[in-house]
Amino acid sequence: MSLIQNKVVIITGASSGLGEATARRLAASGAKLMLAARREDRLKELVAAIPQGGGFANAKSGGTATYRVTDVVDRAQVEALAKETLSTYGRIDVLINNAGLMPLSPLDQVKVEEWDQMIDVNIKGVLYGIAAVLPIMRQQKSGHIINLSSVAGHKVFSGSAVYCATKYAVRAISEGLRLESNGEIRSTNISPGAIATELISTISDQDTAARMNEFYTIAIDADAIARAIAYAIEQPGDVDVNEIIIRPTRQEL
Ligand code: NDP
Repeated sequence: MSLIQNKVVIITGASSGLGEATARRLAASGAKLMLAARREDRLKELVAAIPQGGGFANAKSGGTATYRVTDVVDRAQVEALAKETLSTYGRIDVLINNAGLMPLSPLDQVKVEEWDQMIDVNIKGVLYGIAAVLPIMRQQKSGHIINLSSVAGHKVFSGSAVYCATKYAVRAISEGLRLESNGEIRSTNISPGAIATELISTISDQDTAARMNEFYTIAIDADAIARAIAYAIEQPGDVDVNEIIIRPTRQEL
């Protein structure tokens, strides 16, 4: 039996891209999922595709899913997400802090609203997630928090200063959590390179969008990240996979 089976997993940003691919993969391995994002139609569709108690690829997997519409910039909504997970499934084993956006632009364009948005979703959203589940995981004396950083959390790119800052912050938070784990909480930081999702659609600057569209022609499938997340979760409790970087083989940066 996979160690993913029956684990209660919250995924933020589950309505597309990496979150959706991860939901599909974990459901097939028998996880009990609480899916969160703002677009209810997409969450509904995804939950409908996960037969209750049936799982995806394997009817015997026992995977199941429900959703709660959640904007991660609103702390009360994130708290309510954790509470509903607890009342639905009785515990919280894993939080995947995946919601994020990447409206890249050079600093000279002074797109302060987009800077605020990235800080609110990519950093504060992650912290609100941790705040909502950590006391519950402490009570359980076990839990696993998986944060989505990026290669942009390892290297700063021109035209990406604020996004990189948010992803460096996520990596710092993951490492801080690891140091304070007290032997109870596992902390995994995942740093993807170019993955084919809706992420670059958040870029409003035309030149940057054109460059990124060109760059993303090498992007790989979102399931590459879902597999890495599944690998981290399915390790035994005394094994903490802390850092994974996954790039397309053809990606240099
Ligand atoms: P997508 O744009 O496909 O997905 C982003 C998800 O985040 C959506 O489900 C969106 O749902 C959700 N989201 C955005 N804002 C909020 C919010 N305020 N509250 C709740 N959910 C929100 O992109 P990816 O799947 O690629 O992105 C997932 C993560 O992976 C991000 O953190 C991203 O930075 C990171 N990443 C991605 C890489 C890539 O190349 N794709 C590379 C490195 C890192 P909704 O709009 O319905 O709320």
